[in-house]
Amino acid sequence: MIITFLGTAAANAFPEAFCKCKNCEQARLLGGTSLRKRSALLVNDDLLIDLGPDIMAASQMHGCSLTNVSYCLQTHPHADHLDLSHLLSRSPGFGVMGAPLLNFYASSETLKRAAETFERDLAGYDLLSSDSERTLNLKIHPIEPLHPFTVGRYSVIAFPANHAPTMGAMLYAVEANGRTVFYGTDTATLLEQTWQAFHQHQLQFDVVILDHTYGPNQPGNDHLSAHQVIEHVKRMRDEGLLRPNARAFATHIAHEGNPAHPELAKFAVQNGYEVAYDGLVLEI
Ligand SMILES: [Zn+2]
Ligand SMILES: [Zn+2]
Ligand SMILES: [Zn+2]
Repeated sequence: MIITFLGTAAANAFPEAFCKCKNCEQARLLGGTSLRKRSALLVNDDLLIDLGPDIMAASQMHGCSLTNVSYCLQTHPHADHLDLSHLLSRSPGFGVMGAPLLNFYASSETLKRAAETFERDLAGYDLLSSDSERTLNLKIHPIEPLHPFTVGRYSVIAFPANHAPTMGAMLYAVEANGRTVFYGTDTATLLEQTWQAFHQHQLQFDVVILDHTYGPNQPGNDHLSAHQVIEHVKRMRDEGLLRPNARAFATHIAHEGNPAHPELAKFAVQNGYEVAYDGLVLEI
């Protein structure tokens, strides 16, 4: 399984283009791995997690093609994770040739929000109708948490995120060829129900990717902080949820409390995890 980080920032990107804080200025100075776009992940070349606002830029900048993307697992409808204009721009009506049918998976709450936004702001018609699916070369699949489902060659389980409770936010475990990745953003501390489900489904992860909105000197809140990431990784290891060579990565990194990449990466390595950066490719 090949995993590509298309973006690793929280909602406001990093540096936040309008911000002169120390972290943003440092990131501008350093460039490279310190420049973060809004979070999204590509698994192999055909499964996307989140139709995020920066996936076009990521595809161009990091030379990773999205032309074979046939599946999208949507975490939730917040604007830093879902840009519905991609559904229009990738459709035959916008001149796109050869794109496969896009199978789009999301909770019913997320789909309801998406349909409201799509009709009101973008297209003036119902995203969830079969006519729209035909027009947009799209197949919509409502999903429920804790019920495993199959997506092409992948086995997937969605877990309820501790985030935006009315929006049906999801975290995902994705398995293929005996390798499993857990994508855990956006969320505050994982719900006990989720920990139990990891065990019920006998999951063991090769790669764990966790929300790291808040930095080393901040408390967690509606998202995880650095210290909560450390605690989560430790608990996963203690409970046997990590394979022997498993790696844990931070993503969804906000500018307010997190230093630029080299300094944050140093802190992370000293504390048992790693920091993802845009364009990072993992082969597991
Ligand atoms: Zn977010
Ligand atoms: Zn800033
Ligand atoms: Zn969110």
